[in-house]
Amino acid sequence: MATVSIGVDDPVGLRDALDDALRPLLLAGTRCTLQEVVRGNLHFLVCHLDTAEKERLTGWRRSIVGALSEWIVGVQQERLLRRLVWRLYGYVEATAQDEVLDLVRKRLGSRAMEAPAHQRIAERISEYLASWDTLVVDGFVTFRLQDYVGDLVRTVERVAEGYLLEREQRAFRTMLCQFVLQNTCRPPVAHCIFHTQGFRLENEAGRVEPLVPGDLDHRSGADIDEVLISTLVALAPRRVVLHLPAHLSLALRTSSIHALEEVFEEVSICTGCVRCEPSGD
Ligand SMILES: [Zn+2]
Repeated sequence: MATVSIGVDDPVGLRDALDDALRPLLLAGTRCTLQEVVRGNLHFLVCHLDTAEKERLTGWRRSIVGALSEWIVGVQQERLLRRLVWRLYGYVEATAQDEVLDLVRKRLGSRAMEAPAHQRIAERISEYLASWDTLVVDGFVTFRLQDYVGDLVRTVERVAEGYLLEREQRAFRTMLCQFVLQNTCRPPVAHCIFHTQGFRLENEAGRVEPLVPGDLDHRSGADIDEVLISTLVALAPRRVVLHLPAHLSLALRTSSIHALEEVFEEVSICTGCVRCEPSGD
């Protein structure tokens, strides 16, 4: 004879999960029951086994552990994530919190392929139930699954920080775009010709644009991507041509090219022409 009581504040899904897990044992002749008892704020799902036979006891306990661990990862984890996002990022609007949650779910989903969390949790539950017959899920997760919760906190923080940074950059690029569109004196084109030390800007006639104080030197320590973007925003050309021939080791970051594409109506990339071939450097 053995009893395992599982206490939860919201038993939705857990009773069905335990029912499903225990049904095959019942059909195989194991006498076991499942009852729900409410004590205070907690619902206890009381699993009872009516035999001391070792093999049946092991199978019965394994079924409970499997159902509970999968329920924690499938249902309780979602509640935990909602609480974490609300606690850590309650200051951002609800739609942004939902978007962060979606991204967290995707991140965790892709990671689950490598090391299923419910297997690690199942081991802890097994260890616990070897000594105790009552398990209150909230307390168990808080005190016995600290590494699992810590992992969720780190995932939420990483995803949310990336999301917020991306959102901030998008807003900034939108502002730059408006700034460029409002410029009333826009040259038709700016050719950005990169060379080993930096870049220079030319108009269609090959004249160096007056806003650029000579060639910008990459070795001066300035972030060439930032210098280029701020220079182009000030110049506000309608069309930008980035001359990035293959022989150059200096390359513009892909994120900078995307940023330029968001700010200017037309951005094209040249991989070799008379303006940018090696002899012209
Ligand atoms: Zn070119």
